[in-house]
Amino acid sequence: CGIIGFTGSIPVQDILLNGLERLEYRGYDSAGIAFFKDNRPHISVRKTAGKVKDLRAICDDDNASCCGIGHTRWATHGGVTNANAHPHKVGKTTLIHNGIIENYHELVESYQLQKDLKSETDTEVACALINKLYQGDPIAVLRQVSSLLKGSFAFCIMFADQPGKIYALRNVSPMVATLTDKEGAFIASDLTAFIDYSKRYFIVPEYHILTLTPDSISMEDLKGNPVEAEYQEVNWDI
Ligand code: GLU
Repeated sequence: CGIIGFTGSIPVQDILLNGLERLEYRGYDSAGIAFFKDNRPHISVRKTAGKVKDLRAICDDDNASCCGIGHTRWATHGGVTNANAHPHKVGKTTLIHNGIIENYHELVESYQLQKDLKSETDTEVACALINKLYQGDPIAVLRQVSSLLKGSFAFCIMFADQPGKIYALRNVSPMVATLTDKEGAFIASDLTAFIDYSKRYFIVPEYHILTLTPDSISMEDLKGNPVEAEYQEVNWDI
């Protein structure tokens, strides 16, 4: 189970695929990526059960997108199938998730999400919920769902009408992020995924909402107060 996201000034596909390979040591059964096609307001998804090399085989050679997210899945809810692999996409919302949404059954009932679901995962329920409540303000919807979702989660989320931007929210499941001078903004479940680009990083605090753009990372708590990232640095290589 691993997460990597990037938005910046260089093509994203290799950053995602190489980052996922770096995260292979965590164990996984499926892999996938999503990206803004030609940096337009449209999100494409490539995903498959199997290894990152299987994912590579179904990716386009000429993908010039500079914003995307990548995931390796360790199945907890739903079998190891292509449909259950992440990213999940419902309407305008595309996301990846590490962790477990414990109350996904209740959410399906309360918000009548069944018709939106194509997989058996707890994750897709969170995607459908966010999509149902989304009214064009990513921060507002993430603030809202943060009190509805029970369990552990690290989410990276892209909205089709917010090209070039990645949003993130976590509880328990780890996530780190960094902004580099040259390339752009990175987020991942651990530093190994982007250490080729930066040894500086910060731990994403729980229940804070991150917005990554090609030249910024902003962070706020659930009350909307801006929060400064507390960067740290390592001195090792891979
Ligand atoms: N619970 C989710 C699933 O089974 C995410 C698993 C993970 O952390 O990779 O799809």
